[in-house]
Amino acid sequence: MDILIVDDKPANLLALRKILKRPGLNIIEAKSGNEALALLLEHDIALILLDVQMPDMDGFETAELMRGNEETKHIPIIFVTAISKEQKYVFKGYDKGAVDYLFKPLDPDILQSKVNVFLELHRQKEDLKKTNTELKDANEKILEQQEALIEEERLKVLLQIAGAKAEELNQPLVSLLEDVELMEKVSHNPEKSVECLNRIKESGRKISDIAKKIKTIHYSEPLPSFHGSSTIISFDREIKILMVNDSEDIFEGFKAFLGAQDLINISWAANIKETLTMLEKDKFDMIFLNHILEDGTSIDFFRTMEKEGIETPVIVVSGHGDEMLASQVIQLGAYEYLPKNRINSASICRIINNTLERCRLRNDAKRAQAKMTEMSIVDELTKLHNRRYFMEVLEGEFERALRYETEMALIMMDLDLFKEINDTYGHLAGDMVLSGIGKILKKHVRRNDLACRYGGEEFAVILPNVSRDNIYAAYDRFREMVSKHPFEYESKQFHITFSIGIAFSNDAKSVHNLLVYADQALYQAKETGRNKTVIYRAKNNADV
Ligand code: GH3
Ligand code: MG
Ligand code: MG
Repeated sequence: MDILIVDDKPANLLALRKILKRPGLNIIEAKSGNEALALLLEHDIALILLDVQMPDMDGFETAELMRGNEETKHIPIIFVTAISKEQKYVFKGYDKGAVDYLFKPLDPDILQSKVNVFLELHRQKEDLKKTNTELKDANEKILEQQEALIEEERLKVLLQIAGAKAEELNQPLVSLLEDVELMEKVSHNPEKSVECLNRIKESGRKISDIAKKIKTIHYSEPLPSFHGSSTIISFDREIKILMVNDSEDIFEGFKAFLGAQDLINISWAANIKETLTMLEKDKFDMIFLNHILEDGTSIDFFRTMEKEGIETPVIVVSGHGDEMLASQVIQLGAYEYLPKNRINSASICRIINNTLERCRLRNDAKRAQAKMTEMSIVDELTKLHNRRYFMEVLEGEFERALRYETEMALIMMDLDLFKEINDTYGHLAGDMVLSGIGKILKKHVRRNDLACRYGGEEFAVILPNVSRDNIYAAYDRFREMVSKHPFEYESKQFHITFSIGIAFSNDAKSVHNLLVYADQALYQAKETGRNKTVIYRAKNNADV
């Protein structure tokens, strides 16, 4: 720390230096007011001891010039003077507290204690400056982290949607490619070629449907950076905020900062207990939570939140800027950390906007995740399980039947001459039939059975733990019921039939065999006239 001593007499300077000398203190000397002014600009002076009576320019004049300069006007001055104590108020203009007097002859103890007071004040001011810059840096860091987080979440949602759509596209794309290949092979056969072409058209139509869906996925553009601290908030619904603070005054002050915002509804809770009761009764968009409360700290609150599964975003407000606390509460799940001296309209609006945006992204991500999971196991048209899920379950159930020596059945169904339905009434009519059959089948199967769409117009059912006797009758009745079910499309009525193949696990040594046997029985039903049910027989493949 630098201190400047100014006196025209070298002996006085020497005396001052002797008294003040101590480690860490750099004593700079000036023999005149002019020299002092020059040195003040060169050094970062914490305090100046200024002799009043000097030739050329006296101490008061020097101080006056210091006051006129932006860079030196704040440096505290202790005048060292021989003039009487009664005259000491001659010099005015400096703030009380920035100026003091020492009277000659100097008393070393008084000199020491006065200098100490000013140096301590200077040290505190420097500390405060440092804390403020540190706090600013910490806040900026948090802001950057949060923006990165928002971007990350945004990207995740996009990737999830993209992944789900890619999965959906894959199926018609694969059949399209297969049909193109097949078409090259059957180019000599006009009838087969037309069939291929129709299927290609159908796949193309499906792909185009999905493409249309992708185009209409709502995904908002990133909002402009929040650094601009816009104070204008516009919402399309009421925003409910809960302030948790032991003083209602701070709550009122907070409300005043927000001004007249019709769509913001702020409530107040005095402690953690009250907050939990309010959260049970009402839904809030965010909580501004004081770090220290009468019945605990924000850290206790985060622990309770985790236990109770509360997901409301929390912004921690603390009386003093503390980087450690900020990073601790952010790690515990706080959305933001706000020191009380930073509470103003701009910071509150920024935080509200920021929090709402993050919540929206989080919900988007959750919805996409749920949709993804559903899409990966459910067929969209029939709402039955898809083939992938079916295969997983089939393998599990087959193993279980083996292990517990029970029997399971696999039922394969294929709509009869379904192509004709498409050709006669159009693909949309065909789709309607498939989804209708899905509904009927879902209603028919028992709770422990699993129905799925195995392929285009093929369905399959897994029946764990059955006795052979009843299955044939039950499914043949179902076949008959469907054949009588009137379907209607654009006021045209028609019926649909299907063929069924049944195989039992005890006849098969593997899942693969079970599938082959059910397929063979189905083929036999088709071959022998359609609209019938056939059970695979291990020995003679007899028709039932
Ligand atoms: P079969 O009695 O021998 O089973 O005759 P089929 O016409 O039912 O059998 P084929 O395998 O020749 O034709 C199946 C048809 O099912 C071809 C295709 O147009 C139709 N199809 C498959 N998936 C869908 C779909 O998702 N929607 C519509 N509308 N039709 C489909
Ligand atoms: Mg068919
Ligand atoms: Mg088929």
